[in-house]
Amino acid sequence: MAERVDFVLKGQRVHTGQGFQPLAVVARGGEIVALTSLEDAPPARETYDAGSHPVLPGIIDPHTHMRDPGHTHREDWKTGTRAGAAGGVTCVLEHPNAVPPVNSAGNFRLKREIAAAQAYIDFGLFGGVGDGTVDRMEEQAREGAIAFKTFLWPYPDRSDEFAGIYTIDDGVLYQIFERAAALGLPACVHAESYTLVRMFSERMKRAGKYAPIHHEQSRPVVAELEAVWRTMVLAREANTRLNLLHISSGSAATAAKMWRAMHGMGVTVETCPTYLTLTADRMGEIGPYAKINPPLRSIEEQALLWERVADGTIDTISSDHGPHEFAAKERGWHNIFDAPAGAPGVETSLPIMLTHVNNGRLTLERLVELMSANVAHLYGLYGRKGVIAVGSDADLVVVDMALRRYIEPSQLHTKDPRVARMFEGFETLGAPILTVVRGRPVMRDGEIVGEPGYGMFVSPLR
Ligand SMILES: [Zn+2]
Repeated sequence: MAERVDFVLKGQRVHTGQGFQPLAVVARGGEIVALTSLEDAPPARETYDAGSHPVLPGIIDPHTHMRDPGHTHREDWKTGTRAGAAGGVTCVLEHPNAVPPVNSAGNFRLKREIAAAQAYIDFGLFGGVGDGTVDRMEEQAREGAIAFKTFLWPYPDRSDEFAGIYTIDDGVLYQIFERAAALGLPACVHAESYTLVRMFSERMKRAGKYAPIHHEQSRPVVAELEAVWRTMVLAREANTRLNLLHISSGSAATAAKMWRAMHGMGVTVETCPTYLTLTADRMGEIGPYAKINPPLRSIEEQALLWERVADGTIDTISSDHGPHEFAAKERGWHNIFDAPAGAPGVETSLPIMLTHVNNGRLTLERLVELMSANVAHLYGLYGRKGVIAVGSDADLVVVDMALRRYIEPSQLHTKDPRVARMFEGFETLGAPILTVVRGRPVMRDGEIVGEPGYGMFVSPLR
């Protein structure tokens, strides 16, 4: 290999299909062109020596809301993907609510163009489907949608953001599942029962329970569990690949485990670092800043969720990165129903999960499955993403397992760090120190060194 290559990353502990090995990862034209012994590494324009720090395939965050187009005062593709780069994320999979919502080929292209002009890291886009848009699934698939998302919730007063990407009609949902199966793409749902949450919320209001700490009681586990069972039943009948997004309770994850045991595979489960780390008590500490849907749960549900991580039921971990305005969140102190649900997370997911690795909750290998390899498999990107192998994109993250930090919102890269309080004050042990996207560093020692517009659109490999 006499010809000069672009980038070489050397490390004593490089993640490969066969565990961690001393290797040099050699990149040219954005791809990994060779994995060599350390001695045989060729000269490169840029060489980085990770020493004994683990080198992982880049983190793929399969659940972000970058708020762009439409709500760029909350986040935009520049700030959101800078946050991703800082957090070891090399690719995000973006969900369809935006203004306009992604529910057609035209709206899909609009978001793709905006993201391509601004993103620091690679990105894929969900198509959106719901009432009135089943006939627009195929055109979104043709544009390169990685999956379809449907909210099981009506948004009559937020139609600018949610039109055509929700349904509460099981007949519509069944047709969505049929069409997704025909198109060969996963169908993804936010699994909470609208009518149960409506009833429990009204009950809370009648009882005068408006404080943040009451949020979880307005959407209890049964609301998630019912939606999980219902969608699993419909998806099996329609023979579709159902992906349950941001599952918050061990009970719901256990339902998916039982379903798989009965019927084989066919349903996959995503959860988030929030549900694995925090409980509903966090609402008592930071009020509306801990309001997410589904809500943070009890310590018992969290323990059960960890069992489902350990036994392989949980397939993927996402951040559900969803920033809101400071003023809107502040309203929730007096009336939690008035605050929007969602919180930034793309930058903190990896440090939080590395801390769990250091605490013995999971192995680093399992983390790579949950946050990279399985994500790539599920969304049809594996081979190009999700693995350090010859022929794949040179997407890499170097982690320092001994780096101790406190999460300080003002140091995060999301647009308004005042709302990024979910893990405020948390001590983390383990953090990314280098993020490489297609052979090019985009974050080094906490500093963003990439450029907006470098990030590329990814679509399922066929
Ligand atoms: Zn979400």
